Amino acid sequence: MIPVQEAYEIILSSVKPQTKKENVNLLDAFNRFLAEDITASFNVPPKDNSSMDGYAVLFSDIEKAGEDRPVILKIDHEIRAGGESNGKPVQSGYAVRIMTGAAVPDGADVIIPFENTEEKGDSVIIRKAFARYEHVRFAGEDIKKGEKVLTKGTKIDSAEIGLLASMNFAEVPVMKRPEVAILSTGDEILEPGNENPGDKIYNSNAYVLYSEVKKYGGNPHYAGIVRDDKDKVLEKFKELLNYDIIISSGGVSMGRYDFIPDVLKKLGVEIKIKSILMKPGKPVVFGVIGDRLFFGLPGNPVSSMVSFNKFVKPSLLKISGSGKINNPVIQAITTEDLNKQKGRRNFLRGIFSLNNGIFTVKSTGLQSSGILTSMSRANCLIDIPEEAEHISAGETVNIELIKYGEI
Ligand code: AMP
Ligand code: MG
Repeated sequence: MIPVQEAYEIILSSVKPQTKKENVNLLDAFNRFLAEDITASFNVPPKDNSSMDGYAVLFSDIEKAGEDRPVILKIDHEIRAGGESNGKPVQSGYAVRIMTGAAVPDGADVIIPFENTEEKGDSVIIRKAFARYEHVRFAGEDIKKGEKVLTKGTKIDSAEIGLLASMNFAEVPVMKRPEVAILSTGDEILEPGNENPGDKIYNSNAYVLYSEVKKYGGNPHYAGIVRDDKDKVLEKFKELLNYDIIISSGGVSMGRYDFIPDVLKKLGVEIKIKSILMKPGKPVVFGVIGDRLFFGLPGNPVSSMVSFNKFVKPSLLKISGSGKINNPVIQAITTEDLNKQKGRRNFLRGIFSLNNGIFTVKSTGLQSSGILTSMSRANCLIDIPEEAEHISAGETVNIELIKYGEI
């Protein structure tokens, strides 16, 4: 058994960042990782434009306007968003009616919103002064031509999709996703959608792992449930050998039917880790053949999910070239006593909150590794070091944020 940090280093040093790229349609780029830096080839917005519906005028004409000093300007013409001005610079004594988003005509240097004007015949009366350039959005104020806007390895979220669209990217260069096979093992495991004869356990791990792989940049493939039969497990693994990563759950404990380590050995997998000094998630098997990675995760739903979070997630993120691969860590004050046995590093499922400017944390309650509801309720993992046994309420602990802010 090896400590968590050592296991992490062994695993991450076996993981090579992806070198293959592909271009995907902008609509499919969400949640992918950029394969190149993105530099703007033009200004956004391209021209100075109006942020209000109103009148484009000369600042020098209106700078002294007031309730008792109305300025009357002649309306010259109108520019709609997407429309064009008549091409001539606005002259003193004139106003051009302009809609939000339309390019500001030459000469004009302030926009007077409609609500501050009164139209009379072909003239407009202005009774309020505005600062020079008020309601003008400048060319390039969002993005400047030549600016590096997004860097390689950035995870493409909704705002990045918008930036890419603004910069005229209909296709986006992204990292190729690793192909990940997900396999469940166990005679007692039943696929959801089937009637339970009584004592079977519905397969939750495969669905959790499938979702997690998708979330962190892999392309998941569900390979089904394989029964606790050594030959069948071996046969199944052979079928999956062309995937970049194979993740199984179950069959790694010390039970008589826990064949995963033996099967991996038979396949020629170089086993680098057999178990880790951590709870939940002690029986984690990790091995490699060339660049292919094998993760034999524990069967217990919480152990499987936590060990995924600690080891598979950073591996997937490293493959994708992500700049960030680890859970953010902050400190919080525990509001309850926390007890554990000496020896293994514990990751308790916790709920943190901000109270009067101080982060506090409590556990989700029962911490048995079969309690999957604890993962659903948790927003953090409380990290209790190997040597610790008792932590009293009021003490500070490190917590890893696993869900924060997102709804
Ligand atoms: P194992 O590591 O195979 O001994 O499994 C440990 C525990 O996890 C057992 O109680 C299993 O029933 C449970 N388990 C294994 N695989 C799954 C799965 N795919 N979904 C839900 N529970 C599972
Ligand atoms: Mg089993």
